[in-house]
Amino acid sequence: MENIIYNSTRSAKITATASQAILQGLAPDGGLYVPGKIPAYTGSLEQLAQQTYQETALEIMSLFLTDFTQEELKHCIDSAYDSKFDIPEITRLHEAGGAWYLELFHGATIAFKDMALSILPHLMTTAAKKNHVTDEIVILTATSGDTGKAAMAGFADVPGTKIIVFYPKGGVSVVQEKQMLTQRGANVHVVGIKGNFDDAQSAVKRIFSDDAMKERMAKGGMRFSSANSINIGRLVPQIVYYFYAYGQMVKAGEVKAGDPVNFTVPTGNFGNILAAYYAKQMGLPCAKLICASNENRVLVDFFREGRYDRRREFILTSSPSMDILISSNLERLVYQAAEEDAEATRAYMQQLSEDGSYEITDLMRVGLKDFWSDYASEEQTAQEIRRLYDQAGYVIDPHTAVASEVYRRYREETGDATKTVIDSTASPYKFLRSVVTAIQPELTGMSDFELIDELHRISGVEIPQAIEDIRTAPQLHSTVTEVADMPAEVLRWLGI
Ligand SMILES: *Cc1c(COP(=O)(O)O)cnc(C)c1O
Repeated sequence: MENIIYNSTRSAKITATASQAILQGLAPDGGLYVPGKIPAYTGSLEQLAQQTYQETALEIMSLFLTDFTQEELKHCIDSAYDSKFDIPEITRLHEAGGAWYLELFHGATIAFKDMALSILPHLMTTAAKKNHVTDEIVILTATSGDTGKAAMAGFADVPGTKIIVFYPKGGVSVVQEKQMLTQRGANVHVVGIKGNFDDAQSAVKRIFSDDAMKERMAKGGMRFSSANSINIGRLVPQIVYYFYAYGQMVKAGEVKAGDPVNFTVPTGNFGNILAAYYAKQMGLPCAKLICASNENRVLVDFFREGRYDRRREFILTSSPSMDILISSNLERLVYQAAEEDAEATRAYMQQLSEDGSYEITDLMRVGLKDFWSDYASEEQTAQEIRRLYDQAGYVIDPHTAVASEVYRRYREETGDATKTVIDSTASPYKFLRSVVTAIQPELTGMSDFELIDELHRISGVEIPQAIEDIRTAPQLHSTVTEVADMPAEVLRWLGI
């Protein structure tokens, strides 16, 4: 197998092995680690259809994480994808209304973040051993709601690690907040911030690259890492389910091995859809990548006009995990569209941070022709939840509904009848108020606990354990801080 070395999107000179990149999270120059070369998938698509999720994970991840042994990877995979998931196949396709919904929410925290965050702690502790790191690893995470809980669930009581999660107070769903504030584990800390997700993410990035902070950490025998999708250890596990989904389409007889499939992805930080793009580059027969946004439509404008402009109002929507104006992982796509020109990428990112916008060249836009993008308004999102329920009896969450609505429009506008998989990124139980009131507007007065039972009644879907848990779990966290005080809060809690 070919050895893959990672380099920063902002400097070709900064390189790391896979395990080093996972340990660091962000490259020292503030860039993101990218594989020096995207490995080709050389397996058989017919065989893919017969493989389990774990087998596919081993096949795909070993192509990228080339300094891990097969035994190490197998151990990480088996520890992650087990009975924490409520279906043995880990993820599955559900056909409804002429599309295939890839249910990525069967993990412990009922959002697709579990697909990567259940394995990241294992990859990280293995990476620490390989590199003889004895420092305690402190995970700093900004969350728009789902990453925080999934990361804490993954890292809770993992020896040698601590985790601090920052979330926008007032910018997440009731269930999301309750899930985070009831998290157990002596090594976890949750902090609400008086700001939005972009504020949290930018402040976390600043802490990572602050030399004075790094020095204090080193003195205290600690070092930072990231559980956000800027970490390659998040991205690589997400490539797996695109291969697995394709195999399942073949297995179900929906496509023949080699036929193209489209993927539609509800997008925020651009991690999930970037994983699909990497899968395509590896050779997975995938035609269009449909990038769906909510009213924070910064990516739609980027794909349509070639201009990224974050200078706009930040809108709180019913799909809060996509309420983002600075999509971090887009940097990796821009780097590739610029033919791996780190200088150019750094200049774009500098423009973004100084002026709030940048414009790519026409030549680069040609490189993005695999993408199609549109957005769904709040009203359209609610209507789509109701439409699919009325037509197919299938209940989806608002993030999935954004994707579903954008796909419906794609199909109408282009006439493209290629079979399409829509990533279903959260259980409807996680956003139950938006979901139930989209279907039955007259129920707005119901309490959250009544809504749980109502959703169970109308959907027939069993109430997930994650929801049962928060009905009774005591609240264990209550810290709220200003954005400017985030570094001080980190030092205070770590006691250094
Ligand atoms: C995180 C999240 C998204 C957005 O995924 P990105 O990888 O950030 O683009 C979409 N839906 C849900 C439910 C999420 O939790």
